[in-house]
Amino acid sequence: GGRAARDRRDLLLPGLHAINDRIGWISEGALDYLCRRLTVPPAEAYGVATFYAMFSVRPRPATVLQVCTDLACAAAGAEELCAGVTSRLGPGSGVHVERAPCLGLCERAPATLAVRAGDPVRTAVTAPATVEGAELAATAPDSAPPEPAAALAVPQAGDPALTLLARVGAVDPASLDDYRAHGGYAALRRAFELGPAGVIREVSDAGLVGRGGAAFPTGRKWQATASQPDHPHYLVCNADESEPGTFKDRVLMEGDPYALVEAMTIAGYAVGAHQGYLYLRGEYPRAVHRMRHAVDQARARGLLGADVLGQGYAFDIEIRRGAGAYVCGEETALFNSIEGYRGEPRSKPPFPVEKGLFGKPTAANNVETLVNVLPVLTRGAAAYAAVGTSLSTGPKLFCVSGSVARPGVYELPFGATLGELLTLAGVRDGLRAVLLGGAAGGFVRADELDIPLTFEGTRDAGTTLGSGVVMAFDDTVPLPRLLLRVAEFFRDESCGQCVPCRVGTVRQEEALRRIADRTGAAASDDIALLREVGRALRDASICGLGQTAWNAVESAIDRLGAYE
Ligand code: SF4
Repeated sequence: GGRAARDRRDLLLPGLHAINDRIGWISEGALDYLCRRLTVPPAEAYGVATFYAMFSVRPRPATVLQVCTDLACAAAGAEELCAGVTSRLGPGSGVHVERAPCLGLCERAPATLAVRAGDPVRTAVTAPATVEGAELAATAPDSAPPEPAAALAVPQAGDPALTLLARVGAVDPASLDDYRAHGGYAALRRAFELGPAGVIREVSDAGLVGRGGAAFPTGRKWQATASQPDHPHYLVCNADESEPGTFKDRVLMEGDPYALVEAMTIAGYAVGAHQGYLYLRGEYPRAVHRMRHAVDQARARGLLGADVLGQGYAFDIEIRRGAGAYVCGEETALFNSIEGYRGEPRSKPPFPVEKGLFGKPTAANNVETLVNVLPVLTRGAAAYAAVGTSLSTGPKLFCVSGSVARPGVYELPFGATLGELLTLAGVRDGLRAVLLGGAAGGFVRADELDIPLTFEGTRDAGTTLGSGVVMAFDDTVPLPRLLLRVAEFFRDESCGQCVPCRVGTVRQEEALRRIADRTGAAASDDIALLREVGRALRDASICGLGQTAWNAVESAIDRLGAYE
């Protein structure tokens, strides 16, 4: 076509996915062809292709079996699983086995993901995985056992319309009619009655804050975006859920996909956007499939497109698949990724509400945050704000995994205690520690279970709620190995753009490896070095990845006495 090069650059990541889907890796010939089509310099495209873990620029077998070796899976025997499948699927098997960061299947640990090039189905999730099950998924997917549905629990007995999980498992996720029969699109109708300013007022009055971890007031973000004189405005849904231990957004998208389509439409309307982007983790094949179907159906039925619900408002959603980079969960890195660049964070300011995607005013919200807008509008701000505490309003999803009898997604009003949640999940005897907030979060001790699960309660207790990860570890889990895995994760995922993080994550891992190799005995100079590196990470890194890379290790030293 004749469109200018700058108009095509954003198709680079989808183009790389298309090649990778077809042949399983990015060959030089295919990359050259893509570069000519998009008029992107080959060296730059190569730099983008090598940035993402899901792509390989070297030939590899058509099937890649990813074995999650992150926290919950590690505690459930992932290393033994990985060794088992590696020995069964040797060279000549046509399967490349690799260790993977958290696959977001922590409630069914240990987990594997088989990605097959050229196959229309292409991917098979196995969780909980055995050596035999993972081998079948990679070599004979049709005979592999089906993936079980995610475990859910909604212990809250209250207004069912204030329950985020109410439709998950109760509706056919493929059916728009079923969604409408279960209350779907009532919130969008209400939004059109209220007008954009009225929607923002309702969301502000409800006290809704972001659920992705930062807890920023959603209404304020929307107001700031809506008021920008520069146009167009964009709405971005951050569905790049990659924090180890987090899987709630996957469950929402797989089980109630139209809810997110509706919520994104409302958010777009409020901030004055006509185009929304849903940036979805590449490792979530089922969620990608269901969201694509939901967007297509909504468009076919006039719920997206030039005239949404006949109200004269134009809005559409484009789905972009991530490609295996934790740092793309940082919103400015995510913008770069959509634009066709390496997913490296930008320095702030300018903030996204002023200059975000394509340099334009952008509201970026997490999946769970957006889905909360539906009950805010259908029940009203006051009813919504009556749930939870005065500073943390509404319901919250928690991802419970590790040594509990019933791992899964739990929905509770803010304010329940950590102990109450763990009791519901059937915490096992011998609890040693609980990780709150994922790898970027912190550990608390087994005698600190009275911490209230609110933003303010966790902060007062010197820890963090983060995105709602609650991972329980009993005393059989080797803590030094676990901390080493956290450090490996951050070293792997650092984008390398700034020195404190690039060097600091390496130094941190080296120190923790020395300690782990001495079976957990730490020399005092190791601890002093970790503290010094940790301070530099926290104070001098550009983005949240570097700033939080020492949190879990610090809390393990100070709260758990991990190396005493
Ligand atoms: Fe990249 Fe780390 Fe710097 Fe973030 S802190 S920009 S991940 S190097």
